[in-house]
Amino acid sequence: MGIPLLDLKAQYLELKDELDAAVTDVMANAAFIGGPKVKGLEAAIAEYCGTKHAVACGNGTDALFLILAGMGIGKGDEVITTPFTFFATAEAIAHVGATPVFVDIEPDTYNMDVSKIEAAITERTKAIMPVHIFGQCVDMEPLLEIANRHGLKVIEDACQAIGATYKGTMAGALADAAAFSFFPSKNLGCAGDGGIITTDDDELAAKCRKLASHGTTKKYFHDTLGVNSRLDSLQAAILLVKLPHLDAWNAQRRAAAAIYDELLAGVNGIDLPAARDYGVPVYHLYIVKSTRADEIMDALKNAGIGTALYYPLALHEQEVFEYLGYAAEDLPVAASCDGTTLALPAFPGITRAQIEEVVQVLKGVLA
Ligand SMILES: *Cc1c(COP(=O)(O)O)cnc(C)c1O
Repeated sequence: MGIPLLDLKAQYLELKDELDAAVTDVMANAAFIGGPKVKGLEAAIAEYCGTKHAVACGNGTDALFLILAGMGIGKGDEVITTPFTFFATAEAIAHVGATPVFVDIEPDTYNMDVSKIEAAITERTKAIMPVHIFGQCVDMEPLLEIANRHGLKVIEDACQAIGATYKGTMAGALADAAAFSFFPSKNLGCAGDGGIITTDDDELAAKCRKLASHGTTKKYFHDTLGVNSRLDSLQAAILLVKLPHLDAWNAQRRAAAAIYDELLAGVNGIDLPAARDYGVPVYHLYIVKSTRADEIMDALKNAGIGTALYYPLALHEQEVFEYLGYAAEDLPVAASCDGTTLALPAFPGITRAQIEEVVQVLKGVLA
């Protein structure tokens, strides 16, 4: 009983025979690193996103790090991003030695407020890193216009947005490069950690590939310091089985979101997520905002319904970023999400009856 936030077991059972066969095949061939599965996945993701290259790596955080490092961004440089994202976005910027510069978010989509970017640009700014949060693309056209005018690189953190589109173009093909994560709970998840970089830039793709492989292109000869960040063949094999189902799963997430939108419309005390008509979102999470989030979450938990805060504390308020010198109120919209934005179950395959059950609990609290 109960309704989980995400049902990964059901997804496995849906494809069990194919997944088991793919895993067994890798084991039998004992090709665990690189090889045809990884090459095949890179080709499949490049085709899916509509980019020239896809470079597999160890996880989404590494994908961001490798892109930044591949672009030569590091000490003394600034990268403009959002404070309302998973920690890894800003972590990757800090790890290359650059400084994350946060701009506030839109109150209804939770995406970076593009109108705030220009004021944050300095002589040190090298790139903008928009995050397509919860699976909805940032308003990329005005963002790219600003970036072009100032000669800045643009890196999509598309970790939550595989399959989403903006004005007909896929997330991952909207800027200089993009990072995706295959963490199990993402819209396309593997059975462990995994990530991939997409780009049309031949030179950047080669650099990222080299950096991910100890900075070498010729085995045992090193002219650059890199890292070890690979996608396992087992993960690639699993992702190749799942990828053909991604669009259907994303459509099911949208259908679930539409039911919530319908059933929660007009309920006082709760803000529903806005969907912009410039694109098609993939609802990595369906997020509602309420100052009574604590009560709602208690009631959901008591009813056996999965929920969690995304995100409990904005990045500009994190202890590790104290050195950046932000006060909470510097980015008031992001700070207003602390402890108020929570996810409702909207996984592929959730039924209308299950959604009605969730809505019943919410209405019980908010009535
Ligand atoms: C998941 C996620 C990442 C990091 O991906 P990992 O594969 O867990 O390293 C980065 N950014 C965002 C927005 C994410 O949701």
